[in-house]
Amino acid sequence: MARGEKGLEENVFDVIVIGGGHAGCEAALASSRMGAKTLLLNLLLDNTAMMPCNPSIGGPAKGHLTREIDALGGEQAAAADGSTIHIRMLNTSKGAAVRTLRAQCDLRDYHLWYRRACDMQPGLCVMQDQVTDIWIENGRVRGVRTGIGTIYEAGRVILATGTFLGGKVHIGLTSFPSGPLGQVPAPALGKSLREAGLQVGRLKTGTTPRIHAGTVDWEALERQESAPEPYCFSHWGTPKTFSGFACFLTRTNNETHEVIRSSLDRSPLFTGAIEGRGPRYCPSIEDRVVRFPDKESHLVFLEPVARDSVEIYMQNFTTSLPFDSQVRMVRSLPGCRNARIMRPGYAIEYDFVPPTQLEPWLEAKNIRGLFCAGQINGTSGYEEAASQGILAGINAALSVRGEEPLVIERSRGYMGVLVDDLVTRGTEEPYRMLTSRCEYRLLLRHDNADHRFSPLGRELGLLDDERWRILQGRWKALEKEIDRLKKTRLRDPEAIGNILSGPEAGTAEPGVTAAELLKRPGVTWEMVARAAPPGQEPDTEVRERAEIEIKYEGYIARQISQVERMKRMEQVKIPDGIDYGSIRGLLNESRQKLAAVRPRTLGQAGRISGVTPADIMLLEVFIEQNRRGMENARKE
Ligand SMILES: Cc1cc2nc3c(=O)[nH]c(=O)nc-3n(C[C@H](O)[C@H](O)[C@H](O)COP(=O)(O)OP(=O)(O)OC[C@H]3O[C@@H](n4cnc5c(N)ncnc54)[C@H](O)[C@@H]3O)c2cc1C
Repeated sequence: MARGEKGLEENVFDVIVIGGGHAGCEAALASSRMGAKTLLLNLLLDNTAMMPCNPSIGGPAKGHLTREIDALGGEQAAAADGSTIHIRMLNTSKGAAVRTLRAQCDLRDYHLWYRRACDMQPGLCVMQDQVTDIWIENGRVRGVRTGIGTIYEAGRVILATGTFLGGKVHIGLTSFPSGPLGQVPAPALGKSLREAGLQVGRLKTGTTPRIHAGTVDWEALERQESAPEPYCFSHWGTPKTFSGFACFLTRTNNETHEVIRSSLDRSPLFTGAIEGRGPRYCPSIEDRVVRFPDKESHLVFLEPVARDSVEIYMQNFTTSLPFDSQVRMVRSLPGCRNARIMRPGYAIEYDFVPPTQLEPWLEAKNIRGLFCAGQINGTSGYEEAASQGILAGINAALSVRGEEPLVIERSRGYMGVLVDDLVTRGTEEPYRMLTSRCEYRLLLRHDNADHRFSPLGRELGLLDDERWRILQGRWKALEKEIDRLKKTRLRDPEAIGNILSGPEAGTAEPGVTAAELLKRPGVTWEMVARAAPPGQEPDTEVRERAEIEIKYEGYIARQISQVERMKRMEQVKIPDGIDYGSIRGLLNESRQKLAAVRPRTLGQAGRISGVTPADIMLLEVFIEQNRRGMENARKE
């Protein structure tokens, strides 16, 4: 954009958000709620918070992110609760650390929730227009220019454009420029980013065909109902049960695999037509069949997408094979002999900004004031996008106020793990959050996101008095219940024997506390409460949380001390502009990687793959010598 161009006075904002997807909406809401005058520009308002893949929120690690966003003052959990049609708690037989909710949502209600939240948000101006250019002067963002020639000014711009930049759809050997199928792509902005000096790469993702519910033989399929227990995502929501929208299970078979194998010569994945790398953890069905030739069958879930829609999503059946093959593949599945496809499956390639170009607060290192969030950073998923969105929105608003940026530590939340992985290690394929990426799983649970994030949300001005009051009440009740369980002694041997009747529970002498019994394998809060009932029964959330805190007390304490040890490394700041070439003894690989990532702390440097512990020690010594040298110079 040319120097010296100016926008109209009414077109001057503190923060501009480009893109109204999951990242863009959270960013715009956080920024405006923190008092920054914010503009949200979306090329199509009707696709606000659109779900181009399965309309489901949550699942392992993703559900943790949604709870964290909620605790911090974001919208995603409320949007999911406001649109849920089927919900389940996953991993109930596994440990507390990986237990999480997964909701199937009505995609229209979810979209409308965000649409209303953004449209009604004071301080947020929503506008339909395509951004074609980012205005940068002297390494700082000044604003944007749109497709209809309007110039908007702002010192902070958040890029949240998802899969639209340079979007190209593939179905078999056919390919064409497109956003998610049926949407226009945004070709100009990618060029503007490249011209601004950002490195831009290519990735790909894909989705499944949607079939007509009236053409499926539901009786032939295994049914999975919503959980009988009431659930909700938000800390301030009302748990509910759901009925009438079951999910169903079917499976691929030899016939399906034969159709796939015989169509590979027309697959854009296998003919080399697609350049971008796809998501390892969400591979297409043709990928699965090729990678696991001995596997006789793959599970496919048939799931509703909205209350008043006949379209059915086919989870685990992503494909970009030609349409005629898709029809044969679908019809080879039990229950789907007569199924009619309403939308084809497809793959989409798009531009992304390799995230090692970003600071741990999501601001571009070489373009001050430009923040990036969501799929543009190489992630995949609504929850990953929304997490980055709220963090980018918060940091843009903090920057407007002239305050220090917010960096979430890995030990505080999955959000911290996500951003740290992205900016430190980068990604060469769509990054998806997994519980296995997190080293402090027992501390970062679905149930305790409020303790980890709400004090921060309150401090930032994202949680109002009412929400804060509700949390305080819940935290007091939890403290009281834990205290009661630790102080209550059981003296009746028969009652103790009843509680410890399980095979691994062991024995205990009279006088044992309720908390000590609760720590035994197989013993639940309910079993203990039968023998030692509380005066007033705490609500389900408090009961479950008290049980987890007591049962895993020892492990939790151990993880806390590991965090303390790691914090020391996180506190050692690496000076800006450090010359890695002048540190003697560093391996060349480490030197190059450190110079490319430019970590902010010693802890971050230690997580760069290929940088050895010996190099970290050399770096530490160098920083210390440097610090002493500066101190001496100052004294002199
Ligand atoms: C085909 C497909 C399959 C997917 N499969 C999966 C999956 O299996 N699992 C999974 O977890 N996730 C999947 N996803 C990813 C999930 O949809 C995204 O991760 C998520 O939507 C990203 O959110 P976002 O806010 O970053 O971007 P999006 O939701 O894509 O939103 C981007 C927004 O930017 C706007 N925009 C773009 N360019 C401009 C511009 N120049 N000016 C103004 N506005 C602009 C668009 O209108 C849109 O509102 C899939 C996505 C697609 C498209």
